[in-house]
Amino acid sequence: MTQIGFIGLGNMGLPMALNLVKAGHEVLGLDLSPSQTKALVDAGGKAAADLAMIATCPVIISMLPAGKHVREVYLGENGLIAHAAPDTLLIDSSTIDVETARAVSENATKAGLKMIDAPVSGGVAGAQAGTLTFMVGGNETAFDAAQPYLSIMGAKIIHAGDPGNGQAAKLCNNMLLAISMIGVSEAFSLARRLGLPDQKFFDIANTSSGQCWSLSSYCPVPGPVPSSPANRDYQPGFAVDMMLKDLKLAKEAIEATATDAKLGIHAFDIYSKLSADGQGGRDFSAIFPMIEKEK
Ligand code: NAD
Repeated sequence: MTQIGFIGLGNMGLPMALNLVKAGHEVLGLDLSPSQTKALVDAGGKAAADLAMIATCPVIISMLPAGKHVREVYLGENGLIAHAAPDTLLIDSSTIDVETARAVSENATKAGLKMIDAPVSGGVAGAQAGTLTFMVGGNETAFDAAQPYLSIMGAKIIHAGDPGNGQAAKLCNNMLLAISMIGVSEAFSLARRLGLPDQKFFDIANTSSGQCWSLSSYCPVPGPVPSSPANRDYQPGFAVDMMLKDLKLAKEAIEATATDAKLGIHAFDIYSKLSADGQGGRDFSAIFPMIEKEK
């Protein structure tokens, strides 16, 4: 049994923390929202009064909205890096920019702490089921130390390399996902106009070179894949605004590295429009009704 500090008990963080409780660990939780902390306490966890209490734990996990929250929690005056004991293991699973992940990790290492960036894929369902994929950046020692905890919350744990590489993998994967979802939606839209029924096009593309996850597992038109959000009026799933957040990180990285990634930028523009049209809470596959000019 390890005492684990958990900061950020939101849609993802709470079920992740609950899996650690179920596995027999003592989880000390901290969130700005008292109802989230209460949900942890009701399930056998404990509430931390502040960051100073979290800093006493030998293992600390964070699941926060964005880079600025991560900077504040780790690098702030009352932050974890200034107060955690040497050798404490820090795991940040938030999806944030690579630069912040590398800056926080460098400070942690200088302070004698072990740190990994470990963003996840798999959504709320994966967090609940303990089947997340973790993409990890950090040195071998920190990666090995984190394995027992990550394996409770996830099914796949991939070491992507040095600090920040977990975040790099996450934003490149999600940029690719956005582009493929737009591509699949455009193909269905064109197929309809050419007189090809949705199911017929699906059956052919799904066994041809157009096959990809956005088509075969998450088809954006209703019908061919009954479990996809298209069959429940595009209830998320993975919301447009969450995809937009990741595409913004990708866009910033594209610009910072002068990468010639025009489709990545275009995907950001397309999802920005969908969000501006009031569709931010719908599933990211709602790109299809946007193209079809449906409601
Ligand atoms: P969320 O908004 O539901 O949860 C974030 C929680 O952090 C909130 O409860 C908030 O009160 C808390 N918080 C913010 N600042 C804090 C602080 N200073 N101290 C303590 N608590 C603080 O978000 P989420 O959906 O759980 O996502 C968390 C992270 O996981 C994000 O970076 C997101 O991009 C990433 N992610 C989400 C999904 C998903 O499907 N929801 C999938 C993969 C990755």
